[in-house]
Amino acid sequence: MNNIIEVRNLVKQFELTSKLGLQTHCVKAVNGVSFDVPEGETLGLVGESGCGKTTTGKLILRLVKPTSGEIYLEGKDINKISKKEMRRIRKDIQVVFQNPYAALDPKMTVADILSEPLSIHRIVFKYDYDKEVKRLLNLVGLSEKDAKKFPHEFSGGQRQRIGIARAIATRPKFIICDEPVSALDVSVQSQILNLLNDLQKELKVSYLFIAHGLNVIRHMSDKVGVMYLGKIVEIGRVEDIFNNPMHPYTKVLLNSAPIPDPTIIRERQAIKGEVPSPITPPSGCSFHPRCNIAMEICKNKSPELIKINEGHKAACHFCSAE
Ligand code: ADP
Ligand code: MG
Repeated sequence: MNNIIEVRNLVKQFELTSKLGLQTHCVKAVNGVSFDVPEGETLGLVGESGCGKTTTGKLILRLVKPTSGEIYLEGKDINKISKKEMRRIRKDIQVVFQNPYAALDPKMTVADILSEPLSIHRIVFKYDYDKEVKRLLNLVGLSEKDAKKFPHEFSGGQRQRIGIARAIATRPKFIICDEPVSALDVSVQSQILNLLNDLQKELKVSYLFIAHGLNVIRHMSDKVGVMYLGKIVEIGRVEDIFNNPMHPYTKVLLNSAPIPDPTIIRERQAIKGEVPSPITPPSGCSFHPRCNIAMEICKNKSPELIKINEGHKAACHFCSAE
């Protein structure tokens, strides 16, 4: 299987200057992240708020420039290609944002919102815009009549459908879904997740699916990357992560996740402490202050990702292949 996206040792540091300009701090938002997303598959990215998920997505979208590292789209390094080629491939990578309320221009009709990417990227001829807008609305489960309406006339779930229609308008190969259901009522979340799954099958598109909840990640992903303070601490097929978690952080995330089935009773375990600041990350393994199996080595040495099984890796001094 071919990879649509390959990310290698991606690093993003933000320089922050204090109000008086006397101090500068460096935020290591993304600190050496690598992964592959194969054609037609979904990589789920999970981790507590502030661990660098959105920044990873923005780096791939080229909304922020990497400090170092590479991003390949179908084998091409997107930070090295010419401006002309970049214009051509921009349409291949799209995004669905978390907040469908803020993401749509309130002054534009749905037809305008969906025609804009068609015109910018010259997807179809102008006289075919109406037809194409109708096709997109059908694909996302909205009515053709909705084309004339404005965003405020829709519910949250319907607005997210418009956001998804806009993302697929350019016929992308890769879509970054950054917490696309977090802002929606629980009752409509699964409808949107099912829509994204159906579209993936129909359009053969790959997803980077960002979420902080494991239930959503499990429902959507083929592979899962668990992020902690800018690093992937465990990555594997969805069954590896859920049935055979290796990293202590993955284990506590699993234990603290709510169970959708009310007949299963399990004591939910809260994660000890808070995520440390990425300005002053802990020494050694950055999870060690919150880890219940941490030893001396964890304070001193940062663990590498090591292979557990084919496609399953974890970065912990106490993880080893079975
Ligand atoms: P997540 O999406 O996992 O919640 P983010 O990628 O949004 O995490 O943020 C990772 C870290 O980078 C956070 O500490 C955040 O405050 C910091 N950060 C993100 N964007 C910027 C920015 N433009 N300038 C400074 N710091 C930033
Ligand atoms: Mg985020």
